Amino acid sequence: MEKEEIMRLAGGCLMDTYRPLPVVFVRGKGTRLMDASGREYLDFVSGIGVVNLGHCDPGVTAAVQEQVEKLVHVSNLYYNTPQVELARLLTQHSFADRVFFCNSGAEANEAAIKLVRKAARARGDSRRCEIITMEDSFHGRTLAALSATGQARIQAGFEPLVPGFKTVPYDDVAALEKAIDPRTAAVLVEPIQGEGGVRVPSKDYLKKLRAVCDAHGLFLILDEVQTGIGRTGRLFAYEHDGIEPDMVTVAKALGNGLPIGALLAREEVARAFEPGSHASTFGGNPVVCSAGRVVLQTLTGDSRMLETCRDTGSYLIQQLEQLAGRTPWAGPVRGRGLLVGMELAVDGQEIVRECLAEGVVINCTAGKVLRMIPPLIVTREEVDQLVAVLDRVFQRRISQGG
Ligand code: PLP
Repeated sequence: MEKEEIMRLAGGCLMDTYRPLPVVFVRGKGTRLMDASGREYLDFVSGIGVVNLGHCDPGVTAAVQEQVEKLVHVSNLYYNTPQVELARLLTQHSFADRVFFCNSGAEANEAAIKLVRKAARARGDSRRCEIITMEDSFHGRTLAALSATGQARIQAGFEPLVPGFKTVPYDDVAALEKAIDPRTAAVLVEPIQGEGGVRVPSKDYLKKLRAVCDAHGLFLILDEVQTGIGRTGRLFAYEHDGIEPDMVTVAKALGNGLPIGALLAREEVARAFEPGSHASTFGGNPVVCSAGRVVLQTLTGDSRMLETCRDTGSYLIQQLEQLAGRTPWAGPVRGRGLLVGMELAVDGQEIVRECLAEGVVINCTAGKVLRMIPPLIVTREEVDQLVAVLDRVFQRRISQGG
């Protein structure tokens, strides 16, 4: 089918929830995507921070192929080996003792919100049922995750929201402390706000949050749906800060494209869930977990992928800063590892469209922040290609008086 025909059909049968760009991707390999006409693109989006090992990673593909031939699904009425193996890898390589599997980031946050309420009750303090979250945060689109999200723009029209959330400015420990009252049970925060415009907090923010949570007996929950699974150059972003949270939510890159989410928690917290407390039919199914197992083995094995991510990420930031330095309406550049944003004073979506026309896939978030989240295997040469295209697009705009 031709691209125009697919776009026309989509317009007639899909709910109008997205604004897709005019391209139909049919293949992916490593950092490259191919459209229906055979044109190749350099991918700096990774399906929104999902295919961290690259498109169609051979290890993931082989594991999934092998698993779909053996057993696709049984439910959690029974044990399945890939699920247990992935949970063991996650607990061996994190602060966590236990894992609950689900299918997306929003669901992982729903599980965390439910566990907070159960765990507070289990401690004998049923008054404590509120969670403090941050302005401009993003935690997903299901109703409780949306209620936790600090963006009125995306909550509008879905009221009444789920009660039990209070929002304070990001990167402001004093405001957080002021908001704590006898009903507060937990703090939910992203180590870097991805959807909020790649906002990196000040250096000791997480450390200070940990101290505040300890002082007030609150759970510290990190939403690592975007920052986790290697994106910032460590398996989890909290590792940069030398702290241990009580719960972490992950999804996106955990299955390298297969839909999986997980809530990780310390034993004392996790034990508040008992049989029947929470469940998911598909959660931790053998196929998605076999993909997750390869992802974890690759990132924690001798692939040096995390080291390369840190190195290439620094190079990308450096190159973008130089570009911003010669562009009147670009900068600052922010990020960590390969989660990088460049703030603009002009419409970012137009730039995204122009880059796509030049064969480079980037994304714009929070209206005016260009976001670069390539597969972690991206090379310095590919960073140079991206920057050359951005440079051309920026110069064209400047020469047109923009
Ligand atoms: N949390 C964060 C930090 C995210 O960035 C996202 C998605 O972008 C989500 C939660 C929601 O994840 P999902 O779209 O898998 O439900």
